[in-house]
Amino acid sequence: MRIRFWGVRGAVAATEARFLGVGGNTPCVEVRDRDDELLVLDAGIGLYWLGKRLLTGPHGRGSGRTTILLSHSHWDHIQGFPFFVPAFIPGNEVRVLGGGVERLEDTLEGQMSPTYSPLVSLSNLGASVTIGELPERVEVGAMVVTHADTHNDQHPVVAYRIEEGERSCCYVCEVDHPDGLRPEVVELARGADLLIHEAFFTEDESGERPSLAGSRGPSPTGHSTFGQATDLALAAGAKRLLYFYHHPNHDDARIEAAVERERARVKALGAELELDTAREGAELDV
Ligand SMILES: [Zn+2]
Repeated sequence: MRIRFWGVRGAVAATEARFLGVGGNTPCVEVRDRDDELLVLDAGIGLYWLGKRLLTGPHGRGSGRTTILLSHSHWDHIQGFPFFVPAFIPGNEVRVLGGGVERLEDTLEGQMSPTYSPLVSLSNLGASVTIGELPERVEVGAMVVTHADTHNDQHPVVAYRIEEGERSCCYVCEVDHPDGLRPEVVELARGADLLIHEAFFTEDESGERPSLAGSRGPSPTGHSTFGQATDLALAAGAKRLLYFYHHPNHDDARIEAAVERERARVKALGAELELDTAREGAELDV
């Protein structure tokens, strides 16, 4: 399968130049199978830019299919959906599935209300849009998707595993590990060729957990550090790890430094793990 990152930032877009080496859009990952069938992980602002790119292919002619899987329904994971241009084009099919929320359709309908959007309603979208609960197993072309339900302190979240033949990719966004690594996530990521794991905090922040408002805001929970992401990859025997969902206060230099620290730690452990940060615009084969 082929992966492309359209948004790698957590919480809120980061648009200053010092953030753009890694990327500033909120989460969105494009996954393609060998026949080009399209799966999208999360619908942050990156989805807008993916949608624009799709217009050059079948989606621009009203014959495109898209399956969007949501990790959960916080704003930064759904705010790109009202701007996904292929959903406006008659003939296209858009399927949205997600856990982490009851009545997902009501939630997505709500963000189309006239209070928030001139679209007023999902029914005004030109494409065929279906929104449903997440089944145990989802098939998208040659890809088979399973998931783990994880519950952090604040809300339920879904982590995904995508397999195509012998190859596998795991997507773990907004998951904390408060009392050791979450075993359900370790199992989900077992032996994955690629693990995309959030790294919202650096290790030096792990005690204080600064909010977006610095020391004046409530201390956020439900997120991991770079080190926890690394530990999970090692425990699961994943082959490659990409850090994802970066804090909007973390600029390129800070992220690169954190990655270097983790590389040194893995080397000192004598472990085999390829690691880097996910970068917006980067494409890779799994
Ligand atoms: Zn969230």
